Amino acid sequence: MTPAAANEPAATSGVRQVRPRTEGWQQKKDATGRPLLQFASPKRGKPPVHLADLTPAERVVKAVELGLPGFRAKQLEKHYFGHYTSDAAAMTDLPATGRDELVAGLLPPLLTEVRRLETDRGDTIKFLWKLHDGALVESVLMRYPGRITLCVSSQAGCGMNCPFCATGQAGLTRNMSAAEIIEQVVRANRLIRDGGFGTAAHPDERVTNIVFMGMGEPLANYARLMQAVRVMVDKDHGLGMSARGITVSTVGLVPAIRKLADENIPVTFALSLHAPDDHLRDELIPVNSRWKVDEALDAAYAYYEKTGRRVSIEYALIKDMNDHAWRADLLAEKLNQRGRGWVHVNPIPLNPTPGSVWTSSERDVQDEFVRRLNDAGVPTTLRDTRGKEIDGACGQLVATAEDEAAAAGAPVA
Ligand code: SF4
Repeated sequence: MTPAAANEPAATSGVRQVRPRTEGWQQKKDATGRPLLQFASPKRGKPPVHLADLTPAERVVKAVELGLPGFRAKQLEKHYFGHYTSDAAAMTDLPATGRDELVAGLLPPLLTEVRRLETDRGDTIKFLWKLHDGALVESVLMRYPGRITLCVSSQAGCGMNCPFCATGQAGLTRNMSAAEIIEQVVRANRLIRDGGFGTAAHPDERVTNIVFMGMGEPLANYARLMQAVRVMVDKDHGLGMSARGITVSTVGLVPAIRKLADENIPVTFALSLHAPDDHLRDELIPVNSRWKVDEALDAAYAYYEKTGRRVSIEYALIKDMNDHAWRADLLAEKLNQRGRGWVHVNPIPLNPTPGSVWTSSERDVQDEFVRRLNDAGVPTTLRDTRGKEIDGACGQLVATAEDEAAAAGAPVA
């Protein structure tokens, strides 16, 4: 038994227990000795202000500032959110005089496509984007029967420092603006409309579902996340998507979860739990040093109570680390303590990151984990690891040296 295993709760005795620190992971610490977490975005040049960063009223003011009547803002909204275009030449309903200035002022370029990788016979596409300051982010487009999901990034890098996650290892570069988040959706919609994403099921096909599971901790970029969500759901001045099709995930920033519940926008909420005991979660999810498992679960339950929306618990199954039967039982117990019918668990076999010694659980262990939760009355479904072949699954979105090289010579899209 390793020294770490000697400290495990009694339930684990005799069970092999891998831990981040026994696998060589060194938790970075701040000046006070607590796990290093970056909540504030490093100061960098801000991206240009864009239509999608503004409220409808602010867009009108901006159009007037640019020398055109306020109602021209509404026309721009139609072009951008409805026709997915930022090209002034295509906007022939706008007067030629002042059109270029209006478009340059409200629809500045935000994302340059650096690279596009396809897998699943074209049903999954990973995009690598360069932001105005050279920061790299990714999004993944996935076609499923009856829906098209886009996994979007909300930050360049991430400050949450989760040891199993490639993005977390690179640290936080900066928060993304609301418009940079929205532009990922608009660009995906443009590709779908132009026939670049396989055979469309119908002519108006577009992204139907959004998951905030790309780069970044969305709730650490709260104001811009919420502006982006408002634009996604706005039927008159935005993309007009269903809030239910939007999933906001977090590793457990409790005050922000409670704030999200008060927003009155019924998005789907997902808590990336990954361990039901603080003993392990303190290491696996460093933000657990601020808000413990029970606090995160209480906040998730409060989200359900307030919105009536069933909460998802995300759980990356890591071999011999968090996939033990007793942990499935403990998770079920903790969820059932709070009520029935409020939660769904999504275990997902870990996608090993380059250089990581951790691997995903064995198939029979995964099945046993799922079975125990279901038997305890907690609906549980093993999740698809779509995008694995192109490093596009959760925890794998990170700019590689190759990406950096491609970005250095990338043409402007
Ligand atoms: S798992 Fe999520 S929160 Fe943790 S470091 Fe990775 S991107 Fe950030």
